[in-house]
Amino acid sequence: MKVLVVGGAGYIGSHMVKMLVDTGHEVVTFDNLSSGFRDAVLGGVFVQGDLADVAALDNVFKQYQPEAVMHFASYIQVGESVQHPDKYYLNNFTNTLNLLNAMVKHQVKHFIFSSTAAVFGEPEYVPIDEVHAKNPLNPYGRSKWMVEQVLADYERAYGLKSVCLRYFNAAGADPSGLLGERHEPETHLIPLVLQALSGRRPHISVFGRDYDTPDGTCIRDYIHIVDLCSAHLLALQKLMEIGESMRFNLGNGEGFSVQQVVAAAERVTGQKIKIVEGPRREGDPARLVADATLAKKVLGWQPVYTDLETIIAHAWQWETKVAH
Ligand code: UDP
Repeated sequence: MKVLVVGGAGYIGSHMVKMLVDTGHEVVTFDNLSSGFRDAVLGGVFVQGDLADVAALDNVFKQYQPEAVMHFASYIQVGESVQHPDKYYLNNFTNTLNLLNAMVKHQVKHFIFSSTAAVFGEPEYVPIDEVHAKNPLNPYGRSKWMVEQVLADYERAYGLKSVCLRYFNAAGADPSGLLGERHEPETHLIPLVLQALSGRRPHISVFGRDYDTPDGTCIRDYIHIVDLCSAHLLALQKLMEIGESMRFNLGNGEGFSVQQVVAAAERVTGQKIKIVEGPRREGDPARLVADATLAKKVLGWQPVYTDLETIIAHAWQWETKVAH
């Protein structure tokens, strides 16, 4: 299949491009390289361009005629989205509309969308299933939820079919060691912990130890990047096969606390980490865990790297490569 991967030079997108190429698909990556890396795109065609540039988008559709689109290009920092909602609504929402409108114009009807657990806001219950209420607490989560709602309208009006995949905490790296997480600035727990262990940072701050969890630190659902990408591949195949829009929550189904992540990283690396106790980070729910039963049932998805130490070991392989 010929797939246009928007944001294919970023962390998740680059792993997706590799998996698509490795499984015999034709891939065109469209990325403005604002936070991605050209050398992370390991196959297919690369087009540098911005979703704000309607003419450039039009050209890509005309020239390559993709059968499906996967959209990973977005800003992802919750705190920044509160400070600069304009940036988030413009890129994550308006620019996504440009992409959807190009799809409608060129009659491309299959869309896989990177959504987020942030669409749910403060959980009313965990694990969180797909029907859980959507109450995003910040512009980041809201921008993603707005796209999800627009997709329902575009399906009704234009027959555009989509799968929205709500990621919990994407983590780890390709086991080959060829790809990994390279955010600038890095805000995610696992890479920060590993950077502290490799000497790239002096310490790790633990954001709050007074949560209502067994060890007082926040619990998150870390899903290996390869498992996340395999869910996309299955979602794409299912979408092409049945032509019905779907929504799935993607996670391990198991939560690990910040303290457990730190302990696992110390076990994997055999080193001690310097911890600084920090205050709670605004907007952090105590526990976010996915109920991914639906994805397993409908897509036949089976995550392979569910063990926290394996996720960390793959991320560590990447960290040791880029740190030295
Ligand atoms: N966290 C932390 N120290 C850090 C970064 C993150 O204690 O330097 C905590 C954060 O409060 C959250 C968890 O680690 O409970 C995961 O945070 P991350 O930013 O990786 O992902 P999020 O859950 O916010 O999407």
